Amino acid sequence: MSYAAQERRIRELAAKIIASGEAPLVIGFKRNPQTGRCAPAFAGSEAECSALAWDETCGFNLAAYLNEISGRAAVVMKPCDARLAVNLMVEGQLDRSNLVIIGVQCTGMTHEGRAAPSCKVCTVATPPVYDYFVDENGGGDASVTAVPIAQKAGAENGGGRGVMALTPRERREKFNRELDKCILCFACRQACAGCYCKTCFMDRSMVDWRSAAPLRSDKETYHLTRMMHLAGRCVGCGACEKACPSGVDLSYIGSAVRDFIGDLYGYQAGMDPEARQVMNSYAVSDRQIGFLGGE
Ligand code: SF4
Ligand code: SF4
Ligand code: SF4
Repeated sequence: MSYAAQERRIRELAAKIIASGEAPLVIGFKRNPQTGRCAPAFAGSEAECSALAWDETCGFNLAAYLNEISGRAAVVMKPCDARLAVNLMVEGQLDRSNLVIIGVQCTGMTHEGRAAPSCKVCTVATPPVYDYFVDENGGGDASVTAVPIAQKAGAENGGGRGVMALTPRERREKFNRELDKCILCFACRQACAGCYCKTCFMDRSMVDWRSAAPLRSDKETYHLTRMMHLAGRCVGCGACEKACPSGVDLSYIGSAVRDFIGDLYGYQAGMDPEARQVMNSYAVSDRQIGFLGGE
């Protein structure tokens, strides 16, 4: 794995895209000297492309910008960014012809100096869709197979199956511990490319879903409803956790929902632009099973 070689190729591809007029804008990353980490950056000229950066701190999910840009743009995408872009295509939210994807192989990113929890359990190292490819050595060879960090570390489970083995009381205690830390700032929603409703159910005025105080009942409503809205859509990118100012770890719920959908329907979100969104399809042969068990 060579970040320096990947960075060189990203710069070359970005400059080529701008010079040829294929897209007027490239969204990628740039080093922030104040933090020492990479931050999202917008390059509209060949000179700006030469400052694009790539290293283990490029964990922010750039797919969140796809809901904001109009017109054509090129975006540097890790597998989880590309999977969220696929979700938007499947949901009719993104015109593929407006997007040029520089797909970059990824074996894991860091968050606050440590391997990001979401990356420890990620098994997708190659973007499912791309127009230009950057392999783990900075080449363009799509046959190079990067080994995801989860397989290197030995298939650590994302917490979803672990939590389902707990008793209902233990699950409630775990959930409450995380809810107590939450200040209902909604940064997790803002960071998620899957949360693109113009008016979130939490902000609708017709029903008073929330009070001014961060009550536990409001937090429960928010987090559980959000997870249900993301069922079959959450790719486990971890952008929500990285954005959280309070260190709330509710990723195990997303993991449990992903496992449930995978086991029941054999569906993995964001892998196939031609697939139907799993929660929007129905077959009479579908098993009638719920989280409470029983059929
Ligand atoms: S979740 Fe997967 S694709 Fe995304 S940054 Fe982590 S390892 Fe890379
Ligand atoms: S809920 Fe979190 S992990 Fe899932 S897609 Fe949204 S930001 Fe990524
Ligand atoms: S970002 Fe953290 S504190 Fe803010 S609403 Fe989400 S879980 Fe709660």
